[in-house]
Amino acid sequence: MKFHEMRQEDIEKAINTDYQQGLSSADAENRKKQYGYNQLEEAEKQSALLVFFSQFKDFMVLVLLAATLISGLLGEYIDAIAIIAIVVVNSFLGFFQERKAEKSLQALKELSAPQVSVLRDGSWMKVHSKEVTIGDIIRFSSGDRIGADIRLIETNNLEIEESALTGESLPVLKTTKPLHGKGLNLGDMENMAFMGTLVTRGNGLGVVTSIGMNTAMGQIADMIQKAETMTTPLQRRLEELGKILITVALILTALVVGIGVLQGHDIYSMFLAGVSLAVAAIPEGLPAIVTVALSLGVQRMIKQKAIVRKLPAVETLGCASVICSDKTGTLTQNKMTVTKLWSAGRLWDVSGTGYVPQGDFFNGESRVSPSSDQSLKQLLTFGMLCNHAELVERDGELILDGDPTEGALLVAGMKAGLTRDALSTSFRIVKEFPFDSTRKMMTVVAEDAAGKLFAVTKGAPDVLVGKSASIIWDGKVQKANEAAFQAVEEAISGMSSNALRTIAIAYKPLNGQSLDLLTEASVEKEVTFIGLQGMIDPPRPEVKQAVRECRDAGIKTVMITGDHVLTAKAIAKQLGILKSNDRVMDGKALNEMEIEELEEIVEDVSVFARVSPEHKLKIVKALQNRGHIVAMTGDGVNDAPAIKTSDIGIAMGITGTDVAKESSSLVLLDDNFATIKSAIKEGRNIYENIRKFIRYLLASNVGEILVMLFAMLLALPLPLVPIQILWVNLVTDGLPAMALGLDKPEGDVMKRKPRHPKEGVFARGLGWKVVSRGFLIGGVTLLAFIIAYHQHPDQLEYAQTIAFATLVLAQLIHVFDCRSEVSVFSRNPFGNMYLVWAVLSSLLLMLVVIYLPGLQPIFHTVSIEPRDWLLIVGLSSIPTFLLAGSFFARKKQ
Ligand code: ATP
Repeated sequence: MKFHEMRQEDIEKAINTDYQQGLSSADAENRKKQYGYNQLEEAEKQSALLVFFSQFKDFMVLVLLAATLISGLLGEYIDAIAIIAIVVVNSFLGFFQERKAEKSLQALKELSAPQVSVLRDGSWMKVHSKEVTIGDIIRFSSGDRIGADIRLIETNNLEIEESALTGESLPVLKTTKPLHGKGLNLGDMENMAFMGTLVTRGNGLGVVTSIGMNTAMGQIADMIQKAETMTTPLQRRLEELGKILITVALILTALVVGIGVLQGHDIYSMFLAGVSLAVAAIPEGLPAIVTVALSLGVQRMIKQKAIVRKLPAVETLGCASVICSDKTGTLTQNKMTVTKLWSAGRLWDVSGTGYVPQGDFFNGESRVSPSSDQSLKQLLTFGMLCNHAELVERDGELILDGDPTEGALLVAGMKAGLTRDALSTSFRIVKEFPFDSTRKMMTVVAEDAAGKLFAVTKGAPDVLVGKSASIIWDGKVQKANEAAFQAVEEAISGMSSNALRTIAIAYKPLNGQSLDLLTEASVEKEVTFIGLQGMIDPPRPEVKQAVRECRDAGIKTVMITGDHVLTAKAIAKQLGILKSNDRVMDGKALNEMEIEELEEIVEDVSVFARVSPEHKLKIVKALQNRGHIVAMTGDGVNDAPAIKTSDIGIAMGITGTDVAKESSSLVLLDDNFATIKSAIKEGRNIYENIRKFIRYLLASNVGEILVMLFAMLLALPLPLVPIQILWVNLVTDGLPAMALGLDKPEGDVMKRKPRHPKEGVFARGLGWKVVSRGFLIGGVTLLAFIIAYHQHPDQLEYAQTIAFATLVLAQLIHVFDCRSEVSVFSRNPFGNMYLVWAVLSSLLLMLVVIYLPGLQPIFHTVSIEPRDWLLIVGLSSIPTFLLAGSFFARKKQ
């Protein structure tokens, strides 16, 4: 069907829908069954089997398999089977880790998928874009991405950027009229909006005509949703490090094998030992564990209402040194209530809270009836007329549907007994110039019962004062005069310094003017000023504490708002953002400043007020030029460039537009500043946890290599047999390392300065810790072996079992050491129960391997006599307690 040629009412019939009520939910369900989901087909996913077998691509695994083959050929079947078993278990682990990482990344994608506002059963609701079906009525406004192909029914200055489809980057002004003409291409269909295109201005309403692969987008792009693989800088650095470690491990292994053969060990057992050692020493599991730690951390963030859209942000979060935050809704609750009204030199108070339309009007102490004062009544009526907000009843409660600022104006009007129904019989809205935060105004053109046209404008008072040619005073329209506007200025300052957000209302008769020729600029000038409405927007209670915690963590909070300077200042003071020496700057001052000048002072400014979204970019750049890592919040289309440029772009989950979300790396599900703080804390913790298991794994590997190397140098027999080394690699290294990835943050994680973004993996003494602990672990294991071998020179397997137990135990004790940057004693060992269970199960498995007669021949172990455990426990505690002791000694000095 050619929907662009049809009249709206014909489409309504053809698609069998209802423009007023939308589809019923039952009908929508049936249609979804009939037409399928509204989504583009995805690229083939890797099958589970493929992921499993891809584990075998790993070079070291292949070497192991070759070793198995050789053992098999040489008739060492037990060795061969044991190695195969370990390889398979290892592959399973790798497989599950990869799947888990992939699944959680997929879940993230789902969570950040766009939502669409649809009319169902007569009320508006938000649904996942894939739930939209043919016949749905959907609405959208600037910043939204269109969720399906639609025929437009209503447009208000609607402009859509369609470059994704047509290549044309200039937005197209949309209409609703039927179009005729041959060979219209997509770019010419001005009464249609297409899936995937972007609303850059205005708003509109339309009926869905095609979905999923039948949309224009679906037809040109078969596989649009390419899975993006994202790696973080740390992951990339670890990849680099991995290559170095492989080389070092291979050289050392070759050394062990070479020296062993020279010392007279037989070639086969040295070869097997070498291969096992190389497998154990190469931290091939590291990238997978890092991914799992990152994705588990990301899931913890979701629980705290922050969705990470780009994985690298997890790391950058830990480096953030400035958070630039919007005020309304992020630092404040965005629950507006009008409490003060001003018109023609008189001030009224309004009682009542929230969106309950019950309250009274007072002039000083005495209650007044709003209908008795003409200008007060006009102020309230026009505040309601130039307004989209609605109160809807849900579960017996009145809920606001729409912009909170407009909600406050609506409720103030309702408190005076005005109703939407009565208004719509007296006035008909014929045109609208929607609000945008650069203009800071909104205008509707209305027709009254007598057919007269007039415009009502509401917006930021300081902007509207400049547009006013007259003012209502003493019930009459008077020419703008200094005395009157002096009084207006005083009223604005009075309200703003009390943290009230102020909205001015004005009107303009348009008698005899042609509707089609009216423009924003012509209507929003020479207006008649009526008065002011002042509304409270209480700060979010948790923000003050969050701001303080950020300051302790070396992170500065900066408020950036479109609101009045005095309002911003008052709230910033309440929240502890504005301190006595800090500066406040407004949009005008920002305009006049070159970026270099701004750089000079930007670190002293903690409030930017009356700014437009475009200013945010300048602020971000100035801060970045001063070496800061900047987190920047935003919600609108115009915020997108600043969000993208900042180091951590943060979009609002509730009020944010699709464009803002798409440019961001973090989305706040609750729009709350405190959530940014939690995400930063989590980001720091994830990084610390990754450092913890890198430290653990590498120190363990160093220990494993050194024990073998020293034994060869000292012309001793092999202290560990290959299968034992593989076992240690799998059990002792794997489980506890994973558990370290789940560790809670150390108490002082938000007391430290932000990490430098260029900080290396081994910074802050980690390299020294790895080497020193590694040496000690290797040393005590060798010592245990030597002592046992000395006591039982004819029982090599006994000494090897003692060495095995010492190595395992030394690592399992050392893992607790890794939980702290300071000392093993600074943390409660039971603080991470995952780790306790991981260690206990590793211990149990070690005992099974040592004492179970069936396993002894496979693992070349013999039962250890109880008294020898004293030796094992004593020696294996040395690495941890020796260094902890040296820490205390240093502290005492
Ligand atoms: P923030 O940037 O912290 O979210 P904000 O919400 O106050 O601050 P804007 O939404 O850009 O910033 O609003 C700027 C000014 O425009 C407000 O101070 C108010 O005076 C005016 N304003 C806000 N919403 C509307 C609206 N719906 N209609 C008319 N004017 C509005």
